[in-house]
Amino acid sequence: MSDQQRRIEDIRLVRLARVVPFSFPFWGVQWSDDREPIMVAEGWIADDGWHEAEPFQGNRREAAAQYVEDGDFRLVDGEATTWIHVRTWRRGAVLLDGGPHDGYDETQVDIETVVVPVHPVAPYCDPDTRKHEWGTPVRKGHNGGMIIDEHCQHCGAMKQTNTAAVDMLNGETRTSIQYFEAVED
Ligand SMILES: [Zn+2]
Repeated sequence: MSDQQRRIEDIRLVRLARVVPFSFPFWGVQWSDDREPIMVAEGWIADDGWHEAEPFQGNRREAAAQYVEDGDFRLVDGEATTWIHVRTWRRGAVLLDGGPHDGYDETQVDIETVVVPVHPVAPYCDPDTRKHEWGTPVRKGHNGGMIIDEHCQHCGAMKQTNTAAVDMLNGETRTSIQYFEAVED
């Protein structure tokens, strides 16, 4: 990089620092592909439009997991594991030449989708403990992976684990869990 290029970049960064308010929770500086400075904010935003998400001060995966937890995504009884695809990013501020917004605009950096599984809750077994006692697993091959069936010694419910379940959103295979109530004779 030439001295002149570096000087131009310094000037752009100083200009940006002047227009971004002090309330902006500044974390660090990144540079765009065309060498524009971006002031990056602390924390991660995880959002897919289901509910409002506050910046999260952990890492990206924790932000996505928290987003799903706050969203209270519940499965219908008997449903298998589902996967929530959460878009995550950091907030950034860039110079806006000749526009409104006091000379800067918000942008998103480090965008990445994190897949968070939502597993079903086991049905009731013993009313006091809710703990099933799973017997010897039965395994069979399936879709290049394995399906594992376990039956509860108490109530006869079945827990089925599928290591090659297909995530319909992108066709990737993941591990899913599904519970089946005991079949009455
Ligand atoms: Zn049971």
